[in-house]
Amino acid sequence: MANLGNYTKTAEILQKYQFRMQKKYGQNFLIDANILTKIVEAAQITKEDCVLEIGPGIGTMTQYLAEAADRVVAVEIDRELIPILEETLSPYENVTLLCADILKVDLTKLVNENGGGPFKVVANLPYYITTPIIMALFESHIPLSSITVMVQSEVADRMQTGPGTKDYGALSLAVQYYAKPEIVARVPASCFTPRPNVDSTVVRLVKHEKPPVEAQDEDWLFDIIRASFNQRRKTLANGLTNAGGLGISRGQVEAVLEEMGLQKTVRGETFTLERFTELSNRLLRMKEEG
Ligand code: SAM
Repeated sequence: MANLGNYTKTAEILQKYQFRMQKKYGQNFLIDANILTKIVEAAQITKEDCVLEIGPGIGTMTQYLAEAADRVVAVEIDRELIPILEETLSPYENVTLLCADILKVDLTKLVNENGGGPFKVVANLPYYITTPIIMALFESHIPLSSITVMVQSEVADRMQTGPGTKDYGALSLAVQYYAKPEIVARVPASCFTPRPNVDSTVVRLVKHEKPPVEAQDEDWLFDIIRASFNQRRKTLANGLTNAGGLGISRGQVEAVLEEMGLQKTVRGETFTLERFTELSNRLLRMKEEG
């Protein structure tokens, strides 16, 4: 039975190993059994599932996951946590522990070496690299069925929102291209030690079987989206032509906007995913035709 997930046991183990929390790794450990149960339930883990956990910390959520899943692969960057994890996870034979930076791991190799997937990702993410981790998971195209993660509330809101709101941007579009985001729970700071100074939210991203739009070139679509939001207060035409490396002229952007029946002064934050896809497909065609 999982014995972590409360303050007393967490403090005891940290004390035993004289472990010092590393702010640079975004270490805020969960100490609330209700939230842990809620995350595992929201992720719909069954005895058939392979789970990838990013940042197991002292192994609190890993214990809950190991009890619910067929197997768990946990990737932790901080080598000081490995002896602790070896102790807290010793009762579980279905956990594989890897000491590595998730952003440097070859995800395809990791999946192939651990049964080939599909994986469910479950994590209380380090907040300083939430977006790069989510993007790396999607862009690696490893077989994933869902990603259930604790993130900063503001990031969860950005994932969910649509055009015309202040939170809407490249992250909203990327997440919604790959998955359907759902807010699972708002989590108070008192559920962690040490308490984070931002609000936290558990969000579940259920991967689409196929993206809701047809981009001729996915990388190009995301180059266009990123360039459009780089200069937020500028018009879309300015954003796209000021971005180095896209190789498109102002004349080409304006011609495409006109073909789409749009003003030259439109802004990216009003564009839906469908409209961005149409824009990027048209720009690609124009670029290829020279
Ligand atoms: N899962 C634990 C829990 O819920 O109590 C710990 C969560 S804590 C918010 C984030 C964890 O991610 C820490 O253990 C931290 O050391 C680890 N971490 C930070 N950056 C990482 C990276 N690049 N790759 C893998 N793990 C990382």
